[in-house]
Amino acid sequence: MKLLNIVQKLEGLANQQRLQHIIETLHQWGIAYTVQQYPTGKNVIVNGGGSKKVVGISSHFDVVHGSPGANDNGTAVAVFLHMLHLLKTHQFKNFGVAVFFFDEEEYGLKGSQAYVEQYGIEQFTGVINIEMVGHGDKFALWQLNEYSKGVVMETFEATAASLGFYTKRFDKIVTNTSDQMSFLNAGLADVFSLTLISDKDLEVAYKFYVAQAAGASIQTLADIMDKAPLFKHYHKPTDLSIHLSEESLQTASRVVWETLVRLDGNCAI
Ligand SMILES: [Zn+2]
Repeated sequence: MKLLNIVQKLEGLANQQRLQHIIETLHQWGIAYTVQQYPTGKNVIVNGGGSKKVVGISSHFDVVHGSPGANDNGTAVAVFLHMLHLLKTHQFKNFGVAVFFFDEEEYGLKGSQAYVEQYGIEQFTGVINIEMVGHGDKFALWQLNEYSKGVVMETFEATAASLGFYTKRFDKIVTNTSDQMSFLNAGLADVFSLTLISDKDLEVAYKFYVAQAAGASIQTLADIMDKAPLFKHYHKPTDLSIHLSEESLQTASRVVWETLVRLDGNCAI
């Protein structure tokens, strides 16, 4: 399945049309889903958990007004649609996978907030949130620090390493937030967001750390961050699929899927 094609279908669509596209795709593929309607939006949920433990994978489908939303976050939606296709013919033995397409992440994490308020977090072992995976080949995991622990996050790191992919935990460098925070604030510890970045992004990150340690001003730090290729088109009218790569999308999809396979063989879950 070519994931860039899915991103191209979502590109430039308004939130309502993106929602419609996700629902129509699930419908066509015969995948059962629920739509959670809350006062200001709608989440799409595919919960393959039943009575079992659940590992959640989440993405937001909404866009910032004025941005075509290819990398942020058409890429994650494409990866998850692909994953749902794989889940049609594969069942994990020890847990179910819940797949979330959250609304209004860009407007204060409202969709994921509404989800945890209505359904809680009890059934979850952990949640992997995906943001912007259309560029680069290295995984930024955030907000995690050296002390963060959890079977899902650690299995992700081990899986990526075994497949030859570099991962790095980012704590305070990222001022942005995402839907993993709603789960974290509700008390689930094993949660993180992942983003694909390039070598150049990593270089900028190191410069940022050095400047931060030297007590640089907020403005200086913001100027350094601005130089990261990741943020070049972020929330801008230029967030287009022409800047993205199929290989990055396949990498994200493969490592998340292999993480789930590895987790299923882990008796700690
Ligand atoms: Zn986003």
